[in-house]
Amino acid sequence: AKNQGAGKIHAYSEALAETAHRHLQVEKGLHEALEHGHLRLFVQHQVDMFGKVAGMEALVRWQHPQEGLISPAEFIPIAEESGLIIPLGDWVLEQVCLLLTHPRVKAGGYTLSANVSALQFQEPDFVSKLTALLQRTGVDATRLTLEFTESLLLTDIEAIIRKMVALRALGVQFAIDDFGTGYSSLSYLMRLPIQEIKMDQSFIRDMQPDAASGALVQACLMVAKSQSLRVVAEGVEELAQTHVLQAWEPSILCQGYLFSRPIPAEQWLQDTDKLSDA
Ligand code: C2E
Ligand code: CA
Ligand code: CA
Ligand code: CA
Repeated sequence: AKNQGAGKIHAYSEALAETAHRHLQVEKGLHEALEHGHLRLFVQHQVDMFGKVAGMEALVRWQHPQEGLISPAEFIPIAEESGLIIPLGDWVLEQVCLLLTHPRVKAGGYTLSANVSALQFQEPDFVSKLTALLQRTGVDATRLTLEFTESLLLTDIEAIIRKMVALRALGVQFAIDDFGTGYSSLSYLMRLPIQEIKMDQSFIRDMQPDAASGALVQACLMVAKSQSLRVVAEGVEELAQTHVLQAWEPSILCQGYLFSRPIPAEQWLQDTDKLSDA
C-alpha cells in the first residue's frame, strides 16, 4: 500500500511537471508570437432577428508556425498569469480599432466587441492608452464595446466604475460576458454602467421552452429589460433556439455557429467585398 501511495505521488508530480513545462513553453512562445506578429484577429457575427449582421465579436488566435492555430482558451490564462495579457490586449484593441476604421466596416455601420481581461482594465493607464488609440485612429467610440467577465468585480469597484464612466463619456460601450455564470450578486453587478449582457452559451445550450433552463434565460432577459440593456445570446447552434429567443425578446442579437464560425478578419473583409460587388 505504501508503494502504491508513492506511485500515485510520483504520477501526480510528473503530471504537475508536465503542466508546468507546457506552461513555460506557451509563455515563451507567446512572447515570440507577439514579437513576430503571429497573433490573428478573428471575428464572429452577431445577427438580429431579420438575419442582418449588426456587429461582430473579435476573438484572438495564435497562429503557431509548427502547431497551427492555438485557441485563446489555452493561452489567455497563461497570458494573464505572466503579464503578457497587457501587450496582447493592447494588440487586440489596436487591431479592433483599425478594423473599425475600414471603409467596409464603417459603411455597414457594424459594431465591434473586444474581450478585455480584468487585469488589463486594472492597469492604471488603461483609460489614457485607449483614449489615445481612439484619437489616433479616429474611431467612432460608440461602435466599440468592451466585454468583461464578472471577475472584474473581484477588485475595487469604485475604481472600476470611475474608469468606465470616463470611457462612457467618449462613447465606449460595455458588456458583461458569460452573464449568469459568475458568483457576484446582481445588485453589485448592476452598479456598473453597462449597456449589454451576453448570455452564456451554457444557458442557450440547455434551453428548453418550459424547462428550468428556459426559466434561467427568461430571468436574464427580464433583468436586461428592467435595466434597458441589450442582450446577445452566445453559442446559438440551432434554428429552434433563435425562434424561442426571438419570441421572448425580439431585439435580441444572436451569435453562434448557426450563423457563422469565427473567421479571420481579413477573410471577412474579402467576403464582404465580394458581396457588395455582386
Ligand atoms: P468568449 O468571450 O465567451 O467567446 C465565445 C467563445 O465561444 C469563442 O471561443 C467562440 O469561438 C465560441 N463560440 C461561438 N459560437 C459558438 C457556438 O455556436 N458553439 C460553441 N460551442 N462555441 C461557440 P474562442 O474564440 O475559443 O474564445 C474562448 C475565450 O477566450 C473567449 O470566450 C474569451 O474569454 C477568450 N478570448 C478570446 N479572445 C480574447 C481576447 O482578445 N482577449 C481576452 N482577454 N480574451 C479573449
Ligand atoms: Ca466574449
Ligand atoms: Ca462569452
Ligand atoms: Ca467564456
